[in-house]
Amino acid sequence: MQNFGQKIVVLGAGESGVGAALLAKKIGFDVLVSDAGPISEAGKLELSTNEIVWEEKGHSMDEILRADTIIKSPGIPEKTRVMEEIRKAGIKVVSEIEFAKPFSKGKTICITGSNGKTTTALLIHHILAKAGFDVALAGNIGQSYARQVAKLDREWYVLELSSFQLDDMYDFKANVAVLTNITADHLDRYDYKIENYIQSKFRIINNLSPDDWFIYNADDEVIMKELATKKINTNTAPFSLKKKEKMAAFADEKQLTINIKQQLIMSIHELALKGKHNTQNALAAGIAGRLLEIRKEVVRESLGDFVNAEHRMEFVAKVNGIEFINDSKATNINATWFALESMDKPTIWVVGGVDKGNDYNELTALVKEKVKAIICLGLDNKKIIEAFSGIVDTIVEANSALEAVAFAYQLGSKEEVVLLSPACASFDLFENYEDRGNQFKKAVKLL
Ligand code: ADP
Repeated sequence: MQNFGQKIVVLGAGESGVGAALLAKKIGFDVLVSDAGPISEAGKLELSTNEIVWEEKGHSMDEILRADTIIKSPGIPEKTRVMEEIRKAGIKVVSEIEFAKPFSKGKTICITGSNGKTTTALLIHHILAKAGFDVALAGNIGQSYARQVAKLDREWYVLELSSFQLDDMYDFKANVAVLTNITADHLDRYDYKIENYIQSKFRIINNLSPDDWFIYNADDEVIMKELATKKINTNTAPFSLKKKEKMAAFADEKQLTINIKQQLIMSIHELALKGKHNTQNALAAGIAGRLLEIRKEVVRESLGDFVNAEHRMEFVAKVNGIEFINDSKATNINATWFALESMDKPTIWVVGGVDKGNDYNELTALVKEKVKAIICLGLDNKKIIEAFSGIVDTIVEANSALEAVAFAYQLGSKEEVVLLSPACASFDLFENYEDRGNQFKKAVKLL
């Protein structure tokens, strides 16, 4: 087992940090939780009740530099004073996931990628739960892994892992690793080098052995190019929407096939989630289920009755024949590309927010084909207006979800769709993507 020493400092007191502290305390480490910002009242109460020392709104550097191991929350960038000093002092830094793993008996199915992590993790969890596995969902979603290991350890965990979590994982080994896709995102944390981001995502296959499995999207050029340079020491299960040969699973316009052990064939129309991106997620999840030898009927039923989390191509309402869809979680071009691609009616597209370096040209063809009007929902909409003037006749700017929905309703007609799929982060006008989606839904309900 890894040696974490005796004194542990947990940086950041969100769900990940509090979970890590609870586990560390339970095991008997000397624990300090330190947060640069305020800690929630619930967090403070929980830490104090468990006799864990904490500090907020600043770090006591002397104390921190005495740690044997730092558990760093994924939200903390390397380019902060506290991290720079910790690195200079050469102290071991791990993520909550890396720390918790040796204290769990459970096996892990780990999902990463630029888009589709949550949906695929939820799908896999749904399949395993339906099959009667003792399974929990953790990582970037719900209750932290460390908290669950401390409270009630399970036989299986489905872990959604962001690149930030993977960055501080070294000895961790998944049993099944899933890589959904790689497109530019979060480059501000990777020195604006996509290469660094790709390497971070590929950490998901670190330490995999010949008994483990790597499920990946064979249609993704970035993944394929990177794989060609790597020696993979595990079983591979690629999936594709374009080719069948050598694929563990594939789909065309009509049906989906999973070729693990016996063949499972399912009509695309039976899938609970629509759109090509969700077919890819279903292929990945279906492979995982069949690798664990879950019955074909159970996998099929799970892919058919799954209900996704909010804000992901979520149907809101139909008002006077106009359909409203909330895809507020689409915070990059790739997610929005799939949203637009799945539209089969004239679309009024609500887009904008904080741009993380978008190249809107990637959407031009789809916008030409599907979009009837654009409603910009951001503080600075210049790039969007420049990109689509001359392509879409009607482009208007809204300052709130309420205004955006009112415009959309004015512009829309029967048998048309209003799609909120912003391709941008939300914090110029909203607290986060959930707030943006909720305000949009509320405004629709007021129509
Ligand atoms: P993540 O957890 O990686 O952010 P989500 O499942 O929450 O992924 O989905 C985020 C956004 O990306 C949503 O708008 C969703 O419709 C879209 N999306 C989901 N799966 C995929 C995929 N496989 N490829 C591209 N976009 C996807």
